[in-house]
Amino acid sequence: MSDSRPRKSLAGRTPRLGVLHIASEVAPWAKTGGLADVVGALPLALDALGHRVTTVLPLYRGMALPGAEIRPLEITLGTRRWRGSLHVLAQGARRRVVGVDVPDWYDRDGLYARGGRDHPDNAERFAGLAHAALDFAQHDVDGGRIDIVHAHDWQAGLVPALIRQQPARWTRVARAGLVMTIHNLAYQGLFPKDVVSRLGLGWDMFTLAVGEFWDQLSYLKCGIASSDMVTTVSPAYALETVQPECGFGFDGVLRAVGDRYVGILNGIDTSVWDPASDAFLTAHYSADDLTGKRQNKRALLDLFGLPVGDDALARPVIGIVSRLVDQKGCDLVLAATEQLMQLDATWVVLGSGDSHYETAFKILAGRFPSRMGVRIGFDEGVAHLIEAGADLFLMPSRFEPCGLNQMYSLRYGTVPVVRAVGGLDDTVRGYAPRARRANGFKFRDATPEALLRTVRQALRIYHRTDPWAALMREGMSEDHSWGPSAREYVKVYRQARYAAALRWAE
Ligand code: ADP
Repeated sequence: MSDSRPRKSLAGRTPRLGVLHIASEVAPWAKTGGLADVVGALPLALDALGHRVTTVLPLYRGMALPGAEIRPLEITLGTRRWRGSLHVLAQGARRRVVGVDVPDWYDRDGLYARGGRDHPDNAERFAGLAHAALDFAQHDVDGGRIDIVHAHDWQAGLVPALIRQQPARWTRVARAGLVMTIHNLAYQGLFPKDVVSRLGLGWDMFTLAVGEFWDQLSYLKCGIASSDMVTTVSPAYALETVQPECGFGFDGVLRAVGDRYVGILNGIDTSVWDPASDAFLTAHYSADDLTGKRQNKRALLDLFGLPVGDDALARPVIGIVSRLVDQKGCDLVLAATEQLMQLDATWVVLGSGDSHYETAFKILAGRFPSRMGVRIGFDEGVAHLIEAGADLFLMPSRFEPCGLNQMYSLRYGTVPVVRAVGGLDDTVRGYAPRARRANGFKFRDATPEALLRTVRQALRIYHRTDPWAALMREGMSEDHSWGPSAREYVKVYRQARYAAALRWAE
């Protein structure tokens, strides 16, 4: 085939694409972090552009897809066979979600871990997800053509690798463009190499060129090495992760991907995160009428058992909603607490994660009961109320692939204070006296001093009506919806289809 033929037919107006997403969490069904929000919202945006999308995820304990069609499923990994079913739910004419129901793997507490310990059979559980998705695609003859297979994070990393390894087995996706998205490079799906034979993966997957990583098998590396295009969730994180300091050992792997590695900023689901209609709020509001924001502030303080008098309402509230892990800079906050607690501000913290951080925040709430409210746990409704009721939102992340909360904050008129890394750097423009279009506050050094300095600066500006109103207005006027990002993904899909066509032409 000549070089120009696929280029000509693929580079023009792309026909409607059939896209198969595979992910371990998808909002609203299963969520521990931003991955779920992204894989929940991107299919909607692709659907709005006219593409057909099917999303495959595990059917975890307590999850149900009422009205789904049930199809039998049998998976063999090495010498063991697993039985379950696929729950296929149509959502309108162009979208479907498929729950993989294998109770031995997914009917248990915790998506990936319980009591702080990874499930010991995660290698099986997510090799199983990959096989189930491929099995579904292979037998789903009435679902239309699949042009793109889009795998998310290490849990789906085996999907492109299996397709490349056995195209004759997975004929319905063999020629699809393969796309891998890295939502967080810190999680690499590393397993001892005995999984290769135990799960029947084939030793050709355990090579330096594919999935071997320092004598272990990395599901993420399998996915990166086998895909036509690799994306991550912000342009800044793409740049950071090809540097040794931020690449978690994968910088060389990503440099080798070259210009097939691109950063696309996540969008947010503006139908779920909208202060004018958010079902979790006490009162609705918009940039034109902020009255409701104060009502949410009162409700938030009340919910956290904090004072709600006029003094308390005049005092700035600083919100944190976060996984309580090293990545999120919890240690920076804790290292600066003595000084932070001297400031004239009230704190509300919602999070769960490492037990030492959970304990440290609980102790703080006990020491400063009128200044700090802490909830340990995962609570979607409280997260929304914090976004609406707080005045500032703190994200001092050590690294942040994209970050969603700062974008929710911008939309809710809650001014973000962030460390200038990854997607936080891409989305927050730091305040300076004559800076135009600032929408928040930023600091670069990962130190308690830099954090403290920036929080102090933000609190000074909070008491100056005009610049504060300008910051809020700027953030609330921005468009962080999925539309523009989805169009970027479609461009990547076209490139992936072209690369796949070249692979097959060789
Ligand atoms: P990450 O994926 O690294 O956790 P993101 O900022 O990309 O960080 O996304 C986090 C998502 O998870 C946001 O939607 C945030 O509101 C939500 N979230 C995090 N912790 C909690 C919690 N304890 N309760 C409710 N929502 C939470």
